[in-house]
Parts: sequence; C-alpha cells; structure tokens
Amino acid sequence: MTQTAADVEFSLIDLIRETATAPREDVLLGIGDDGAVLDVPAGQSLVVSIDTLVEGVHFARDTSPADIGWKSLAVNLSDLAAMGAAPAWVTLALTLPKADADWLRGFLDGFADLARQQGVALVGGDITRGPLSISVQAHGLLPTGQALTRSGARAEDEIWVSGTLGDAACALASLSQGESARSARLAGLLQRLHRPEPRTAAGQALRGLANAAIDLSDGLLADLDHVIKASNVGAQLWLDQLPASAALSELVAVSGRWDLQLTGGDDYELCFTASPERHKEVLAAMAVVDVPAAVIGVITHSRELKVFDTEGRLYHPKRKGWAHFESDQSQ
Ligand code: ADP
Ligand code: MG
Repeated sequence: MTQTAADVEFSLIDLIRETATAPREDVLLGIGDDGAVLDVPAGQSLVVSIDTLVEGVHFARDTSPADIGWKSLAVNLSDLAAMGAAPAWVTLALTLPKADADWLRGFLDGFADLARQQGVALVGGDITRGPLSISVQAHGLLPTGQALTRSGARAEDEIWVSGTLGDAACALASLSQGESARSARLAGLLQRLHRPEPRTAAGQALRGLANAAIDLSDGLLADLDHVIKASNVGAQLWLDQLPASAALSELVAVSGRWDLQLTGGDDYELCFTASPERHKEVLAAMAVVDVPAAVIGVITHSRELKVFDTEGRLYHPKRKGWAHFESDQSQ
C-alpha cells in the first residue's frame, strides 16, 4: 500500500508530537488542533520573536541535524533573553527537501534537549516541502512594564557583556580555512558555534537593573550600534577588556582575535548597559545565575562608536563590515 502525501506529513507531525518538550500547565491545547491555546497569567506581558535558519546561509550543508535543531531554538531563546523574558512556548515551521524521518529525529533530539533544559513547550507549527529552512517563533513572559529594550542606554552607563566573544567566529573561520571539524583544538569553539547556550537566566536577572540590552548575533560592533542608535547615545569600547576564552586566546594572535570578537558574530551573549552605581548589583545578579560578565566600555553623549587599543589609540577593525559601519556612523 502506498502512502499518500498527507499520510507522510502526518507521520512526521506524529514524530514531532511524540517528542517530549517541557510539559506546561499553561498549554491549554497544544499540537493537533488548528491553533494552540495558551494561558498568559494576569500581570504578565507576552514577548514574541521569530528567526529563520536557511541551509547554506545560516548553517553549512554538512551540519548535523541535532545541532541544527538545538541552534534553531537557541537563537530564538537568545532574543527572549535580551528582552528579559522567561521562555514559555515555541512554534516550529519546517521546510524540508523531502520527508526524511531520520533527519527529523536527529533534528528533534537537539531541539528537545534545549527545550527541556529551558522549560519550553513546542505547541504547534507547520511542514512544507522546499529547500531546507527552519523558522521558530518563540513566546516568552515577563511582568508587564519590565521588558529590557535597545533604547534605554544613558550616557555614563557601563557597557557589559556576558561570557566570552569570538569563539563561534573563530570556529567558522578555521573550518573555512580547511581545518577538520574533528580537530581537537576546535572542539570547544565548535560547541560554541553549533550549540550556543541562550542566556535566559541572565536576561531575567537583569530586569530592573539594566537600562538597555541586546543579544549578540551579528557581531558586537553591529549589535551595539543598534543600541546606541536606538538610545541616541555613543559608546567607547576598550579592546583589552573584551573577554576571550582560553581556547580563542591560544589559537589566535591578539590582533586577529580582536576582529573576531568585535565583528565575528554568532556569539549569542548578552550586551547590556547599566548605571555605574549599580555595578555591584549587576555582579551579584550575574553570580546568582552563574554567568560571567565584564565591563567592556562606557556609553557617551557623542553619537559615535569608538574602539581604543591597549595604548589608548583609536582602533580600526580590519574586516569589511567596518566600512559599512563607519558610513553608518557619520549619518
Ligand atoms: P492545518 O492544516 O490546520 O494548518 P496541519 O495539518 O498543518 O494543520 O497541522 C496539524 C497540527 O500539527 C497542528 O496543530 C500544527 O500546529 C501541528 N504541526 C504541524 N507541523 C508542526 C511542526 N513542524 N511542529 C509542531 N507542530 C506542528
Ligand atoms: Mg498547516
């Protein structure tokens, strides 16, 4: 007996439905109906964000399905983290070249690992045929009025960043220079590229503490530029304060390392600003959630983004992204 296209689609949906994400009492109706029914508690606001990963653009063809599953959820939870929201529910739109149950099982392994870790329920989605692409819409909750935004930075604020920068970009650069993905030297960096850990606990801990926040997906300079533009301020950064992992420091000479950290992208760390008077509170809040955080610069009145090297001289990043960045700056 041959399977119809509808049978195949439903067997894939069955696979998805059987995948254990976090059970949640606020899911009144999940996968299986025309829409999910979700309960937003009184006094809470819903924060919604969507991101798409496309094969060949956001990940290479040979990326493992489990890594794609993890990352497609992680990049969305990172956006919720930057808003200070607690992740709750996600929907998943899959475009697949063919009905490949093995690929889907691998994908769901990675996706569900992170969903369970973060207490997130998959409540619906869609499957279509076409070039491989994954869209995840994430829904999070926060007390009304407490969202962190890009527009709240004030002159004199300290600029903070969580974790370390440049690891994922270094992994990508090494792969494109022909280094084997099995190379032991790259193991830690590849983990950062394929399995970013969204800073959800840190984002929630910064509510009422940070004046502005953004997650770092396109590179520190590009993302910080969004913050200063939205806030009508400027920024100064100090290269020697940019946090780097031991692996990155070992692999890359200092000058090249800086460009990976400034413009590399795919970090999925939080960049946020807070009044210097709240420095100790920020440190304490980050200690509670066990996330390292460092001050890398200061918000200024002049609407420019300036980077200073260890000798206090103005530093000009080498990558092309910078030219675009400079012309943005002079507007
Ligand atoms: P409809 O035709 O009404 O859009 P579908 O047949 O596409 O419904 O989907 C049936 C059910 O399966 C819906 O509840 C939908 O949310 C869920 N679903 C479909 N694809 C996915 C997916 N990729 N991930 C999670 N749930 C899905
Ligand atoms: Mg549908």
